[in-house]
Amino acid sequence: MENKPKFVQSVVCKDCDEPVELNREIQVGEIIECQNCGAEMEVISLDPLEISLIEPKAALIRYAITFLFPPLAGLTAQALSKLIR
Ligand SMILES: [Zn+2]
Repeated sequence: MENKPKFVQSVVCKDCDEPVELNREIQVGEIIECQNCGAEMEVISLDPLEISLIEPKAALIRYAITFLFPPLAGLTAQALSKLIR
């Protein structure tokens, strides 16, 4: 599968159905933000062009994993090491 950037004029927002102007090259995995409603969409494929709405829930989970889990794991390890001592 080719994974070259592709020039795309606009996409239709998955959330509010408004056209989102791009007028630039996009790549698979790129995040597109709707100017109308602020929804974030990920480019799934370019040929055919397919975008997927990033669910707020999924974004939250991603946020949790990125920012909350490592400190929590650190705290748990600290607590465990105190218990062992
Ligand atoms: Zn939108």
